[in-house]
Amino acid sequence: MQVIQVKCPKCGNPIYSKQKDTVFYCTTCGTMHIRNGGVQVLDVEIGDFNKNAPQDRVYVPFWRMYSTVVINNVRSEGGGFQKLTSWFREGDNSGNLFIWVPASEMEIERFKNMAMDFTLNPPPYNTRMDFGTVPRLPTVMRQEEAKEMADFVVVTIEAEKPGVLQYLDYTLTVHDAKLIYLPFVSTQQGLVPAF
Ligand SMILES: [Zn+2]
Repeated sequence: MQVIQVKCPKCGNPIYSKQKDTVFYCTTCGTMHIRNGGVQVLDVEIGDFNKNAPQDRVYVPFWRMYSTVVINNVRSEGGGFQKLTSWFREGDNSGNLFIWVPASEMEIERFKNMAMDFTLNPPPYNTRMDFGTVPRLPTVMRQEEAKEMADFVVVTIEAEKPGVLQYLDYTLTVHDAKLIYLPFVSTQQGLVPAF
């Protein structure tokens, strides 16, 4: 395993990171940043574990993107076009929502399910200031990639029932992307949310 050392852009202390994680975390001052051409300090939120969560804890990173969807034109069979418009006020053809995209490496079906589930049902969690002693999965997806995936999430949400959606013309604007670490526990069935 390769380890690289950088300096925290805020306090100057050295940060050692496994190269797989694109996000650098300063354990001294809590600043998280990425280096993609230049140094960019990230807006990060850390979710707290519920009190009864078992010990096999891990943090999973997600990009949460505040977005606006405008539906220009849609044609579907049997009025199946419901999910996205549930955010819109009646009669409106646009609305704002948080689009969630997993930022760690995971199997595609799981990736899709988590993205859709958290986008449709925003996870309720309390925040905390640090990770404590809980390990975190490496963030492998960059912000720009996540913004591209936001389109995939919108289309997948509407097209998941085959044959229903016939035509969809929409505009998606991603206003910001925040890195959210959500609490999970490892079980025999895989990772399970623990907020
Ligand atoms: Zn620092």
